[in-house]
Amino acid sequence: MRRTYLRRDRERGVLGTLLWMISETGEFAGAVLKEEQMKMADEAADVYAWLCSTCNLLGINLEKVSFEKYGKGCPRCHHSPCECKDK
Ligand SMILES: [Zn+2]
Repeated sequence: MRRTYLRRDRERGVLGTLLWMISETGEFAGAVLKEEQMKMADEAADVYAWLCSTCNLLGINLEKVSFEKYGKGCPRCHHSPCECKDK
């Protein structure tokens, strides 16, 4: 994502990129609500791409922080699968 879009993401800025991610999240939710299976996957990919772009602009290594937080299971109960009582 960085190689493909970083220049354009920098031109758009953090807030503009974040707004795109939120917009795509709405499109993803719409596809889920309509049970449009093919569109769900496509929109999920878009949400992920825009989250990556936003993190790139903020200097966040999404893969690293995701692995650090969730790589050993649930960060709260430390089990995998999660055994937390709340959902
Ligand atoms: Zn848990």
